[in-house]
Amino acid sequence: FAINMNQLQLDEELGKGNYGTVKKVLHKPTNVTMAMKEIRLELEDAKLNAIIMELDVLHRAVAPEIVEFYGAFFIESCVYYCMEYMDAGSLDKLQAAGVPEDVLARIAASMVRGLKFLKDELNVIHRDVKPTNVLVSRKGQIKLCDFGISGELDKSLAKTNIGCQSYMAPERIKGESQNNLGTYTVSSDVWSLGLSMIEIGLGRYPYPPETYSNVFAQLTAIVHGDPPELPEDKYGDTARSWVALCLRKDPEKRATYQELLAHPFLVHDRESSVDMVGWVKRSLDWKKAAALEAAKALLPQSV
Ligand code: ADP
Repeated sequence: FAINMNQLQLDEELGKGNYGTVKKVLHKPTNVTMAMKEIRLELEDAKLNAIIMELDVLHRAVAPEIVEFYGAFFIESCVYYCMEYMDAGSLDKLQAAGVPEDVLARIAASMVRGLKFLKDELNVIHRDVKPTNVLVSRKGQIKLCDFGISGELDKSLAKTNIGCQSYMAPERIKGESQNNLGTYTVSSDVWSLGLSMIEIGLGRYPYPPETYSNVFAQLTAIVHGDPPELPEDKYGDTARSWVALCLRKDPEKRATYQELLAHPFLVHDRESSVDMVGWVKRSLDWKKAAALEAAKALLPQSV
């Protein structure tokens, strides 16, 4: 069925992305809470229609590791994209202190299964794997969102997508500078996956903070520097070797999803029980306390 704006009751804002805001909404006919992403595009109706049609493929993207798509519509050059509401938000905001190894393994396993599903079942390469595109629920579920399903939408957004923290694989950076687009392969997603794992493990973006405000320095470090590693004092050899397989600079030498799933790090995860619900709860409590501290710091001192 098709969703339209009249059926939605708008609730709070969940976050702001590069292209617009995400709001919590209630779909009144079904009483389902959803997340609605507004993407502002200055395009004519024909192009917007093409985008909506391409997004239709998403109805087939049903897997436990993929954020469910409910439907999309457009109003005055904005695309509104309705998806499953994930009540613990994105992974980047839950990981400030770094996560325990068993939780990291569970997150890694979910992401690999999700990426493998997209490739095998829909022939889709994600193209934008990073912690902000991994959503979490209080039930402890880990799901991927924001994958490049719509070529038309990608084209309309591509030029504005220069972040201050790049998850792009070295070959992508080199390829782009030679104007050699169209070389995106699964292995570039594997790099971004490895980098995301290190960010989650460290609690910060892995390349040095000096490079956050200097895109050129950052891209140079990715292309010419050694790949980052998980910290030795917090993670065992199995976890560290798994991540290293994702971050081989030569894309040909990087592990495939099959190999990543067969690695002891993820084999062990399948056999263990991990308290993901407890971890999500502690992370949300910590996030709330940190927000409260920050708010207090802004208040004038009482005398
Ligand atoms: P970006 O452009 O950085 O990928 P998005 O526009 O996708 O960001 O999302 C902005 C923020 O909105 C996210 O960081 C997340 O906190 C929140 N958000 C996005 N989608 C959902 C969802 N389905 N459920 C809950 N929160 C979401």
